[in-house]
Amino acid sequence: MKSILYSENLRKFSNVFKQDVDSALECFEKINENIYLIADDLHLGRFDIRIDAPASLYDSEGYLIDYPVYSGEKGYSTPPMQFPYETYEHGHILIRVFPQKDYQWNEQEKEELDTLARNVFFICGRARLIELMKKIRVTDNMTGIANLQGFHEFVDEVNERGELTFYHAVCVNIKNFNFINRTIATKRSNETLREYARYVEQHLKEDEIFARTAGDNFLGLIHNENVQEFLEFISKVNIHADTESKLIQISSRTGVYDIQVGDTVSDIKGYIEAALNMARQQNEDVVFFEHSMMEQMLREKEISAIFPMALKREQFEVYYQPKVNINDQAICGCEALVRWYRNGKMIMPLEFIPVLEREGTICSLDFYVLEKVCKAIKSWTERGLKPVRVSSNFSKVHLKNPSLADKIFSVIERYGVDPQFIEIELTEMSGYDNYDNLALFIKKMRERGVHTSIDDFGTGYSSLNLLTDLDVDTVKLDKSYSIRLDNEEEKTKILVRNIVNMVHDLGFKVIAEGVETEEQADFLREIGCSTVQGYLYDKPLPLDQLEKRLEKEFKYTIENKCK
Ligand code: C2E
Ligand code: MG
Ligand code: MG
Repeated sequence: MKSILYSENLRKFSNVFKQDVDSALECFEKINENIYLIADDLHLGRFDIRIDAPASLYDSEGYLIDYPVYSGEKGYSTPPMQFPYETYEHGHILIRVFPQKDYQWNEQEKEELDTLARNVFFICGRARLIELMKKIRVTDNMTGIANLQGFHEFVDEVNERGELTFYHAVCVNIKNFNFINRTIATKRSNETLREYARYVEQHLKEDEIFARTAGDNFLGLIHNENVQEFLEFISKVNIHADTESKLIQISSRTGVYDIQVGDTVSDIKGYIEAALNMARQQNEDVVFFEHSMMEQMLREKEISAIFPMALKREQFEVYYQPKVNINDQAICGCEALVRWYRNGKMIMPLEFIPVLEREGTICSLDFYVLEKVCKAIKSWTERGLKPVRVSSNFSKVHLKNPSLADKIFSVIERYGVDPQFIEIELTEMSGYDNYDNLALFIKKMRERGVHTSIDDFGTGYSSLNLLTDLDVDTVKLDKSYSIRLDNEEEKTKILVRNIVNMVHDLGFKVIAEGVETEEQADFLREIGCSTVQGYLYDKPLPLDQLEKRLEKEFKYTIENKCK
């Protein structure tokens, strides 16, 4: 008997699969539409396929489908021939073929059916792999929600429908994620992220997306009418963080943008990143994008990109602002303040220090400044100039480093500088609460004869605790107080008088920053604050100009004061 394997009809049937199909379902539909070509030759009564695949990252529900591919008009007999196959993910595919009613297949026909079933299994398997590959491309392999590519494709689809303006875009970053990992969550960080991502995804409404881009960063597209509710939801999400089903709260910061006509996906991403950046800087949970944020973000990106090379090329110069004893008008110390010279222009620290602090790169700059300070003091000693104590600003970012004190000493030692001429100003201490680290650092400094001071005192929230817990030498009263002493501001005067008294009573020296007028100086002298720093005397000076002041027994007079 002639085998069906060589028949014209089978060739026609096979030709249907000359082009890939990209899902199992599409594959079944094609078989369903074309199997009539060979059904009679094979005396087929019925043909069905069942796929049972377990849940996976790409199919959170698993895959279960029972598809009757063919059911002939003449009816069918049982039992069927069954062809079971195992899939790559330990799932099962079962193909069952039933003969036409009252028909019995001979051995050759049975072999032909076996071959047919194998081919169907191969075709379906291939379709499923293509389907999987497509999913992998758009799925984040840690959490199973969409990835960046998935987000892009979603935006493209919405855009093609002309519906982008129906949405707000969001950029979400989990607050203190490392801290959560270290302290609260006993699950591994990946599981915490997975749980969080899935939970947020479940909260979405139809035709919305939440995608993970990297680390603890997410992007989303939320319908305009749902955005307020989503923002409330996302600011505090409760998930199970450990095996004892303890609930932890994950809070986040979000940058939001109301999409406008003509926005491209890269515009949208840029805007929400800028808004998130602003949320971080302002310590807000939610910030809506405004165009002015873009310029600032680009500038910050530029700063962090060019900083390493600028430091290597020594584009930073150290200026020195004298500290003055207002009883005898003599210079009793100075503060080193960094300046960045770029393309002939001077960039002030407030433009770049906060960026470097956020990135952690400030540490290398602070040490660069300390080296310049040590070098200057060394050269004064060698040239017979009487050195004054120079204070160098150190950001709190350093305090994470347990060997900070040793690193500072090693620089001082390398230049052979007497430690009494160095002071470390701890800047931006507001909100800092790791007092143990701080206290240890200050103790080490004291033991080795290096002075320490708290900068900008009175600006933060926890400043009073700083005073009781820490053994610094000097407290620098923030310049905002000096400036407010003008205009006969009685309340500021009461405050400053009492702060100065309290600081003295606690055994610290006090120095007032930002003194700009004689009236301010007079008041400070009157209340016993005898050391000041400010434009009234000198602005921060280049090294050579400071040295001119140190060369002679310089005293400030009405004539030579800055103002
Ligand atoms: P700061 O440490 O409190 O320094 C004092 C700031 O006040 C300096 O600003 C100084 O020029 C300014 N100033 C001095 N006298 C007056 C005055 O009479 N009136 C007014 N309005 N301002 C006065 P500058 O140089 O722009 O530095 C700003 C901040 O940048 C510094 O504040 C400090 O926190 C930071 N900084 C500067 N250099 C460094 C550095 O090398 N490392 C670190 N970590 N921070 C630095
Ligand atoms: Mg300072
Ligand atoms: Mg200050």
